[in-house]
Amino acid sequence: MAAGFAIAGRAKAADIDVVIIGAGAAGLAAGHALKAAGRSAVILEARGRVGGRAWTDTTLGPSYDAGAMYIHWAERNPWATIARDLGVQTTSESWGGGFRAFADGNPMPADDRRRRREAFRQIDRKLETADISSRDLSVAELLGDLAPETAPVAASGLLLSIGEEADRISARDYQRLWAGDDLLVPSGYGNLVARHAEGLDIRLNQPVEAIRWDGPRVSVTTPTGTIEARSCILTVPIGVLKAGTIRFTPALPPATEAALAGLRMGALTKIALKVVGDRFDIAPGTTLIESGKPEQLISFEMYPDGKDLVIGYCGGDFARRLSEAGPDAARQHATDLLARMIGGDFRAAVKAVSFPAWWTDPFAKGSYSVCLPGHEAAREALAQPIGGKLLIAGEATAGGGAMTVGGATLAGRAAAGTLLKLKA
Ligand SMILES: Cc1cc2nc3c(=O)[nH]c(=O)nc-3n(C[C@H](O)[C@H](O)[C@H](O)COP(=O)(O)OP(=O)(O)OC[C@H]3O[C@@H](n4cnc5c(N)ncnc54)[C@H](O)[C@@H]3O)c2cc1C
Repeated sequence: MAAGFAIAGRAKAADIDVVIIGAGAAGLAAGHALKAAGRSAVILEARGRVGGRAWTDTTLGPSYDAGAMYIHWAERNPWATIARDLGVQTTSESWGGGFRAFADGNPMPADDRRRRREAFRQIDRKLETADISSRDLSVAELLGDLAPETAPVAASGLLLSIGEEADRISARDYQRLWAGDDLLVPSGYGNLVARHAEGLDIRLNQPVEAIRWDGPRVSVTTPTGTIEARSCILTVPIGVLKAGTIRFTPALPPATEAALAGLRMGALTKIALKVVGDRFDIAPGTTLIESGKPEQLISFEMYPDGKDLVIGYCGGDFARRLSEAGPDAARQHATDLLARMIGGDFRAAVKAVSFPAWWTDPFAKGSYSVCLPGHEAAREALAQPIGGKLLIAGEATAGGGAMTVGGATLAGRAAAGTLLKLKA
């Protein structure tokens, strides 16, 4: 990997078959597939690191995964195989520790807990019975006939899984997402993805500003120069594409723009607190959930794997506001809630915060792609080749594997396969 290696001036067109934009799971997968087929590929990455939304954060000392953490649907996830091939240990054991629910800082009575669990089950039940074959619905519509106090509780679980409000989630897209067993990577999923970058030609600190695709080749410009290639695989998150920070000449075709309009980024985020000293008799791995206000649902994983960390999770519009407010506000909010749940002495244990606010991260602009109601064909439409030489790939184009590292990897491989066929 060429760390921070600049594109010196204008790279020779004939030298490069494919320029790949983004060194996340999709970009790496495309790079490996092209290399295996004997094609030359250069990967341009805006950040000073690889892995994108798979990132094992060590800024607090003990590590945790700030983005992806689970190898979902492990039975068919390529990362189960990649980990095994690299000798990286995975486990199906969760960190355990039990579960405690709170409402406004007070332990939730058993009856309320039961009602809450029951509300969560409603989404699956409604998906089984609702007729979404003739018309797509939002998940909120699906829950429309529940009691007014039950629907928001049922929908709140989606804030932590999809990272988005239920009225912005297509029921059809939600229904087709793959399910299966989850694996954890004790040494960090982000670290695993970064290891997979070995052997590829990656140029870090190269934020792409412009893509020209009207000539016989594609030319891609970053602040340090322009690179030309026969074709381009674009794996930046759709949040970045929608923000318009990359200038396309000519503009992207209407069908691609329409596909982008049918998708948006969710806003799941974690808030990591470094905590030292007293552990308040809480077993490592215990989950504390505060659900007094369903729209601000937040869950805390206490001392995961025995580490001096507490990891908070929240999503949707509340996470957007918190991301915009910044790390001090996030630390304050998480600390105030935990102090109410487990006692005021908790404040003294909090030493530092790391706040991977994906919603305001300029190279992510959100956690992962969500399909808007009525736009369930958008993922496939986004993956259609543009002008015979430009392909968009990434978790957003991964169909039932969307929103995951595994899906991004399959999408990156598929894009490389399409290009190989087009340019055979
Ligand atoms: C909080 C959170 C929890 C998650 N949990 C899980 C989980 O448990 N399991 C799971 O499978 N998935 C999870 N995900 C989703 C998973 O991280 C993503 O689906 C996956 O990493 C996306 O890979 P990608 O290659 O499509 O995009 P990315 O990883 O985002 O890669 C795109 C790359 O493009 C780069 N880029 C952006 N703009 C530019 C530019 N202008 N020029 C050059 N490069 C640019 C980015 O820096 C990035 O490296 C989670 C995500 C978040 C945020």
